[in-house]
Amino acid sequence: MRLRNLPSFYCSYQPRANSLSLSSTFSICRHAMATSNCSASENTHATAAPSESALIFMGTGCSSMVPNVMCLIRPSDPPCSVCVQSLSIPPERNPNYRCNTSLLIDYCESNDNHKYILIDVGKTFREAVLRWFVSHRIPRIDSSQNEIQFLLELQIILTHEHADAVLGLDDIRAVQPFSPTNDIDPTPIYLSQHSMDSIAEKFPYLIPKKPKEGQEIRRVAQLAWNIIADDINKPFYVSGLKFTPLPVMHGEDYICLGFLFGEKNKVAYISDVSRFPASTEHVISKSGAGQLDLLILDCLYRTGSHNVHLCFPQTLETVKRLCPKQTLLIGMTHEFDHHKDNEFLKDWSRREGIPVQLAHDGLKVPINL
Ligand SMILES: [Zn+2]
Ligand SMILES: [Zn+2]
Repeated sequence: MRLRNLPSFYCSYQPRANSLSLSSTFSICRHAMATSNCSASENTHATAAPSESALIFMGTGCSSMVPNVMCLIRPSDPPCSVCVQSLSIPPERNPNYRCNTSLLIDYCESNDNHKYILIDVGKTFREAVLRWFVSHRIPRIDSSQNEIQFLLELQIILTHEHADAVLGLDDIRAVQPFSPTNDIDPTPIYLSQHSMDSIAEKFPYLIPKKPKEGQEIRRVAQLAWNIIADDINKPFYVSGLKFTPLPVMHGEDYICLGFLFGEKNKVAYISDVSRFPASTEHVISKSGAGQLDLLILDCLYRTGSHNVHLCFPQTLETVKRLCPKQTLLIGMTHEFDHHKDNEFLKDWSRREGIPVQLAHDGLKVPINL
């Protein structure tokens, strides 16, 4: 087990200074692990080596993001304590400032070559790049050939075609090399046929077509589209890393994909789910195909339920059922207060023996994949 630097249940969020390395310096607490029925077998305390893989949370919020606009333009009395923090705390030091859910996998192969795999490109993609690419030193600088090169070997996977997962696709050109004639290598993107059909309507100009006679060339994001199946039995490879699609219900009329990846540590990323089909649940549960090392799971509201997402009560029930070694929650609304709710989760985790925490934007989790 080589998960490192997950937030401790005994540490609250530490505002980050202007340091270039924003890795969380927390580790799993021995006491919490010792009482865990589902815990990791080894407690690690090392700092991240520069050449290992990591998960970087580009966004951990719901589709309307946090702060909620209405809480600021028409404040209630008393005002929303979570959203009002955004008026006084800079976003990079505010764990209650949440962009659309998205994960960047920094996949480091054995030869120290880093490849980046981005899951979802939502409405806040550009803002997330500004917030986290610079501070996490993405792309890496390679000066080994006597010339400085910025290396960004990026590939994209989409969970589904809702606005908070795809509306940043136009901005992909901002991280591509400049060419007024679009003469660059396209960024590979993997998505279901349903997502492809929807995106072809939303962004027809991003689908390569032969230009009509007299048509001017305009610079747009260059993408190479690859269709993946909604099928746990049809894994696919991105940058050499194997991904197993995890079809889940996102409302009873809609299939969204989560993804299972990692051979040395098994990670499941499920950002939009209201119900798990039995076949999907089997491959990610301890009592099924085997225990996950890390579950990253949808959690919309603090209380109650919702027709197309899990909320806190159902999310925690799911965690108990799947019994992963660690869980980080994503997709939260402004009902969640990072410090307060992680305190609650600290007690819950100790009681249930399953470590769970809220993730936050910019969180970097070094992990051996
Ligand atoms: Zn609010
Ligand atoms: Zn959705």
